[in-house]
Amino acid sequence: MEKLRTLHIGFDDTDSPKGMCTTFLAYKIVDYLKHQDLEILDFPRLIRFNPNIPWKTRGNGAVGLKIRTKDPSKIKNKIKNFVVKYSDTNNGANPGLVFYENSEIPNNFTEFSELALWQLINRKHAKKFALENNLEIFYLGNGQGLVGAIGAIGYRFNDHTLELLSYRKPSKFGKKRKISLQSVKKMHEKTFPHTFNSFDNKKSRVMITPHGPDPVFCGIRGEKILALLQASKILETDEKLAGHMIFKSNQGTGDHLKHILDKKSIKPYTSGIVIGKVSETPKMEKGGHVFFSIICKDEAIPCAVYKQTGLTSIAENLISGDSIIVGGGIRKASKIHPRVLNVEFIEIKNLHTNLSQSNPICKICNKKMKSKGQNQGFKCIKCGKKSKSKLSKVIPRKIKKQMYIPNMSAHRHLTRPLVRIGKVNKISKFTESGPWFSVYKN
Ligand code: ATP
Repeated sequence: MEKLRTLHIGFDDTDSPKGMCTTFLAYKIVDYLKHQDLEILDFPRLIRFNPNIPWKTRGNGAVGLKIRTKDPSKIKNKIKNFVVKYSDTNNGANPGLVFYENSEIPNNFTEFSELALWQLINRKHAKKFALENNLEIFYLGNGQGLVGAIGAIGYRFNDHTLELLSYRKPSKFGKKRKISLQSVKKMHEKTFPHTFNSFDNKKSRVMITPHGPDPVFCGIRGEKILALLQASKILETDEKLAGHMIFKSNQGTGDHLKHILDKKSIKPYTSGIVIGKVSETPKMEKGGHVFFSIICKDEAIPCAVYKQTGLTSIAENLISGDSIIVGGGIRKASKIHPRVLNVEFIEIKNLHTNLSQSNPICKICNKKMKSKGQNQGFKCIKCGKKSKSKLSKVIPRKIKKQMYIPNMSAHRHLTRPLVRIGKVNKISKFTESGPWFSVYKN
């Protein structure tokens, strides 16, 4: 009897800004796998990597699948064909596909994946890694997609969220998405916090539909399968959709902002956090962006807070001596700016006392005293009373010791929304025949 083999499949970089989507390719592959004599062992995984790399199309996402089959060769060949067929190589996609046959994922795969969350990984390194670790690879173009493909199978979840992605019929690709705003609002009200980032109440804006020509109609993010399914039923659209698939993901986990950066590891395009004290009064520049520096191990690291994040009113109110943690990505130096950390969150750990100093008030005349000259104290010009020191007054601070994150519209896929702070989602029970995948009959 033929032996059953566990096969991990990872792929990435199949899309371009002009079309397609790696998750749609995954949906097509799963549709094929569902009709084969094999077992799908887990949710498809949608893993987002370092959002600050320059060549991503949108959210730097890669997909992984785990199956058990008697005939891995047949499946591998078929999946290669899918990758060739559904990749937008004419418009710059550099697809990477990897296969790994083993029930367990070794630790060094996970280490590779963890690095891809915050560093820039050379594709040569990915090719070498594959060669040394028994990974079968297939790629087109320059093979940059191998980085995400390996990372997707190596990723180990400590926390996760789910996303239900609905796909359009091919005749609708590239056409405007029409969805009832009221229904999205209602869906948010009924299912939040089990779903999140669906509707921006402040701006009355739908957050679940993309705007590009890709096959995704909408994506509902949340914690539990039932909440996602309930949410999708509340949505109203006249468009006949093709189907949906639920992915297990690291979206909303803040995964890329865990590594502590210092002057040495601050290289362009890395992501991470800096812990230190504000070194100077922040300055607002043209365009409404705020700049300041944070002192970390005696080195000043310049930080930029962009207007779009909605964090400028917080940054503006920082003062020298405030203890903070900032998270973000390192932007390459330009002609006008040094290498700078683009701030994605500000966590205030301690607020320095803000003192204003002025000449003392005469207790008898209730008048401000006059300075007698440098270091010579003060004197009331009316009654002659003297005082040695200035009057210190505490200015109340307008910001608090807490975490500040950007406006919803400036969130990255990986941004941990406020509603998820302190939340760890460990278990989402997978049943192969469950409602996580559906091709609609209409
Ligand atoms: P979408 O979100 O629509 O799937 P995308 O934003 O994921 O698109 P891709 O077209 O997949 O964009 O491009 C991202 C590319 O960057 C892939 O080739 C991926 O392998 C690679 N990549 C991912 N993480 C890193 C990293 N840390 N260092 C270098 N390359 C990376």
